Formats: sequence, structure tokens, C-alpha cells
Amino acid sequence: MLALVVDDSRAMRSIVKKIVAAEGYAVLEAGDGVAALAVLDASAEVPSVALLDWNMPEMNGFDLLQAVRAQPRYSAMRVVMITTETELEFMGRALEAGADEYLMKPFDGAALRGKLALIGLAAA
Ligand SMILES: [Mg+2]
Repeated sequence: MLALVVDDSRAMRSIVKKIVAAEGYAVLEAGDGVAALAVLDASAEVPSVALLDWNMPEMNGFDLLQAVRAQPRYSAMRVVMITTETELEFMGRALEAGADEYLMKPFDGAALRGKLALIGLAAA
């Protein structure tokens, strides 16, 4: 199982990475949307799930979501948007654009595992 973790905060990436690694995932990571698309293109395996921070430089999580949903190669990749309360009002748009779930910062391992379980990607 492979997960993609995209966040401009290295500290946040390492927190998310630790949680999903404990669920048995190998992890790809990137610090913005442009870098994430390059990482995806370079990976022979399509991740089962992408965890996308909303607020990032270069290309934000919403634009990245739209970019991956425009590519058939990633149609089976589930997407969890990770957001602060500031972007919460835009989550409806993200779900319409193809996000599977969203998670609000701050969160703990149990909350993230719960979201993965909801989309069938972790034990409940
Ligand atoms: Mg951010």
C-alpha cells in the first residue's frame, strides 16, 4: 500500500507520515502541488490514498485535487483534504471536485485512522 502526503510543513508531513506508516503504508511526500504531481508522475505505483494539505505555495491542495481528478490514471486514488478551520467553508467544493474525505487540523492519529477507515483504507 502506498500513500502520498503533501504538505508545505515538513513537521506536518512527518506527523502524517508516521501515522500512515503505522497503518502499513509506504509513503511518498511532497511540499506543494507542483512537486506532488512530479512525484506522482515518477511513481510506477499509484498511491491508494493522497492526503493533501489545502494551503500550500505554488499549487494548493484544491488545485492539486482538480489536477489529479482530471487524470484517469489517478481515478482510483482516494483523496483526503487536510484543512484548517479557515478553509472549512470550501470543503463542499472539494467534495464536489472529487475529494473523498476531509480532516481538520489539529488532529490526532485516531482521527486520521478514522477517516482512512471510512474510505475503506484502514482497519476500523
Ligand atoms: Mg499548509
